[in-house]
Order: sequence, then C-alpha cells, then structure tokens
Amino acid sequence: MSLIINNLERIKKEIEKETLKYNRTPGSVELLAVSKTKPLEALLEAYEGGQRLFGENRVQEAVVKVPAMPEDAQFFLIGHLQSNKAAKAAELFDCIQSIDSVKIARKVNNACEKLGKIMDIYMDVNISGEESKTGFTGEDEVREALKEILSMKNLKIVGFMGIAPHVDDKNAIKESFKDLRELKDQMNSYFPELKAEKLSMGMTSDFSEAIEEGSTMVRIGSAIFGSREYI
Ligand SMILES: *Cc1c(COP(=O)(O)O)cnc(C)c1O
Repeated sequence: MSLIINNLERIKKEIEKETLKYNRTPGSVELLAVSKTKPLEALLEAYEGGQRLFGENRVQEAVVKVPAMPEDAQFFLIGHLQSNKAAKAAELFDCIQSIDSVKIARKVNNACEKLGKIMDIYMDVNISGEESKTGFTGEDEVREALKEILSMKNLKIVGFMGIAPHVDDKNAIKESFKDLRELKDQMNSYFPELKAEKLSMGMTSDFSEAIEEGSTMVRIGSAIFGSREYI
C-alpha cells in the first residue's frame, strides 16, 4: 500500500477513535485532506485511497489541480483570498472556508451570481489572538459582518473556521476551539435564519482537541502527505 493511503487509513482510524472517545456521533467529523504545495500525483493517490475532500490555500495551485482531478473530488479553499482572485476562486472551489472580510464575501457573491452558483462558505475567525493570522476578530466583528453577508443571495454560510494558537499548551488550544464553538452557537441564536452548524477546526497537531470541542471537519495536511517545505 502506498504511504499516502497508509497515512489516510491511520488518520481515519484515529478520527474514529477520538469521535467515540468524546461521545460524538460516529461519522460526524469529516476529513479534509490539505494538499497545498503537493503535486497532483499525491492528490490522485489520496483519491485512489477513497479521499474526496481536498483543501488548498492558493488559487494559482487550484487552477492546475482542480480540472485535473476526477469530477467527484471536492475542493475547499482554506487560505486568505485576494480580491483579484475572487472570480477564479468562485469558479474552481466547492466551498470557501476563508471568508475573512465583508469585501471578499461581496466579491465572491458577485462572481457566483454570474456563474449561477451558490457557494458554501465558512466565516474565518481569528481564535488564536495572533495578529499574523487572518480572520474576523471577536463577537462584534463577526456579528456585524454576518448582518451583511446573510443578505448575499449566492452565498450560503454553513459554518465557522478557526486555527488554534501555535503553542504547546493543550488547554490553551482547547480553549480557543471552545471559543469558536460558543461563537457559532451565539451567532445562530442571534440570527435565527443563519443555521451555520459546521466547525472547521483541528489540524495534524491538534485534531484530537478539536474533535473533543465539537469539530465537524478536521483539516489535515502533513500527517497525510508528509511535511511541507513552506506554509
Ligand atoms: C496548512 C493548513 C492546514 C494543515 O496543516 P497540517 O499541520 O499540515 O495538518 C490546515 N488548515 C489550514 C488553514 C492550513 O493552512
């Protein structure tokens, strides 16, 4: 068996184990294979191993990979999107998890309107407190943004995405995931029309904590494809 397929099997088993351990519904945590920087062959190998959900962080890479993959592979954008690439992103991706401003939401909405497409989106929230990270910061900012984004007809807000702080302290990591879950619940009660129940949180180093705190999608790169030279 190939290394990638082997890794996939192992990660899927670990996700299942954590799901049971924390009394989550079996199958309620999806696996996004983060294939950024990796060659097409690596994605095809993962596809061969049954993987269908792929995460990319650059439109330039997706331009090459998306058309080369089988139809039923789905692509999620997980990296900051620049305005001038919004139209291309709207065309290529099945879901954009990195909506971090009202402005970019509007650009994607306009592009989707032209394509006659409804895009699933996540609100990218900065839960790490690290200034270098993108995303909306704090309850007020998320609420103000949602007021506007909810009226955009070609966007469907399905959930919230966050990245834990880059620290060793597992409790601090768990706390940040808990913050995102609570923010989601607050926003859903504030906007009854919202119904955004998904939580994209957890990566190679912290997916167990994320599953414990309610993640519905873990985004895993290096544990599947090996380490990366950058990003
Ligand atoms: C790169 C990346 C991941 C995957 O990181 P690993 O540590 O390799 O699992 C997950 N989420 C985002 C937003 C990323 O940019």
